[in-house]
Amino acid sequence: MFLMKSKSRIMTVIILIISAVTISGTLPVFLIDAHSLPFMRYRVELKDPKFDLVTITGSMHGTLSDETRLGIPDGGFGSKLDPIGFEATDIDGELLETEIKGDTWIIKNGGRDLSFSYDLVLTVEDRYSPEVRDMLTLIERERFRMIGRDIYLVPLDEVSDGIIIDIELYPGMTLHSTCASNRKRLIVPASANLAVTLAVSGDYRYSQARIGETDLILAIAGEWSFKDRELFDVVKDIVADEIDMFGSSPREKYLFVCDQNPIRGDKGFDFYGVHFGGGMLLLFDRSMDRSKLYDTPMAIVSHEFFHNWNGEAVAPASDSFVWFTEGATVYYSYKVLLRTKIISEGQYAEKRKVIEDRYLDNPYLETVAIGKAGNNDLSDKDMVNMLYDGGFLAAEALDMWIIEHTGRRYGLIDILRTIYRKHPDGVRIDEQYLISSVNVVADRDSSPFIMELIHTPATGILAGRRPGGSTKEKAFDPSV
Ligand SMILES: [Zn+2]
Repeated sequence: MFLMKSKSRIMTVIILIISAVTISGTLPVFLIDAHSLPFMRYRVELKDPKFDLVTITGSMHGTLSDETRLGIPDGGFGSKLDPIGFEATDIDGELLETEIKGDTWIIKNGGRDLSFSYDLVLTVEDRYSPEVRDMLTLIERERFRMIGRDIYLVPLDEVSDGIIIDIELYPGMTLHSTCASNRKRLIVPASANLAVTLAVSGDYRYSQARIGETDLILAIAGEWSFKDRELFDVVKDIVADEIDMFGSSPREKYLFVCDQNPIRGDKGFDFYGVHFGGGMLLLFDRSMDRSKLYDTPMAIVSHEFFHNWNGEAVAPASDSFVWFTEGATVYYSYKVLLRTKIISEGQYAEKRKVIEDRYLDNPYLETVAIGKAGNNDLSDKDMVNMLYDGGFLAAEALDMWIIEHTGRRYGLIDILRTIYRKHPDGVRIDEQYLISSVNVVADRDSSPFIMELIHTPATGILAGRRPGGSTKEKAFDPSV
């Protein structure tokens, strides 16, 4: 809802028909009936290629609000887009006052249509700097990839269905995106999707597949030790297995982008996967050996894709439940690799041992329970390990407990699938929600087991097999 300035309600109906050849070669027609909601469009242009300097102009039509609020999207790892020379005007070019409150930009447009513009520098000079992780947008003469959160100040109030974005960086490039696109135009379905919109263009090679009702595209750049098809086969197997686990996927279309990892840390390059809505970036080291496609590093694909359900559709209600979001995702990411035969039983067992040993050696073992790890400083590597390793082992223990107490009829995945199907528009869950869901299938009270798992540091359930034994806790007896 928004405030109406004029007494009579002005109905603004914008009918927009765009027809263009999409990647699938069909001719789509978008009908956008905006009713009384304002309509928005953005334009991204290259101002200075030397500094990857781009100009973003936005406009809003049909607004009746006194104020228009734009927000800076979350920057993932902490840093955020930094607009240079922001200016807003009405349609006559008259400057509009803009107030900046934290991450919110409030334009005093007094019910008038408006335009705004700002510049952005999209280069990170130093590949050793932590900012490399934040800036996932890449602009080169040959190709570009753009993540919404690096580019757009996003409307905080409702706008009509479908925000139009025109991207004009280099002539002749054709866009591929997680949302509907034609040559240089994107249609983002809602303002909430703007920050997670991924678009690529230029020198990428594309592969496409349809798995059930879900479209899958792989865009890959540069030379690798593996063939495009080999990576795409691994991705397809993982995606198909996970969709099969849940029965359907939350989105109709996913875009995987495989590109070079720009990050260089102490140990050289590493693997890196980032997931934004329907987009997934796989950033690999160019020297990566082909054998890695058939090894545990591919868990970045199964892990990130699993978050579509556990993390996004079924989200943690608070930081104290992140152990489940991450733990169950780590656990199933390896299970999926095993089931699709991307890794062998031996590789799985080896990985599991690494996780268990690291958990048992964690300096926080005796003091921080997994339910507390997510509330702590996650820039601390040991705390992150406590959350992920402990989370993995806890998810495994919980899976076993459910299997055992349901006569092998159900496992943890059945709990997750049921929650996902019950809430197609998404849900936030906490430990009480988990306990009640488990109680239903197990037909008994799971809370003593789950509470100990989450709230007892070095619980015997997870640390009981420690060589030499943790004497603090005795092994949990599920029959009690
Ligand atoms: Zn994760």
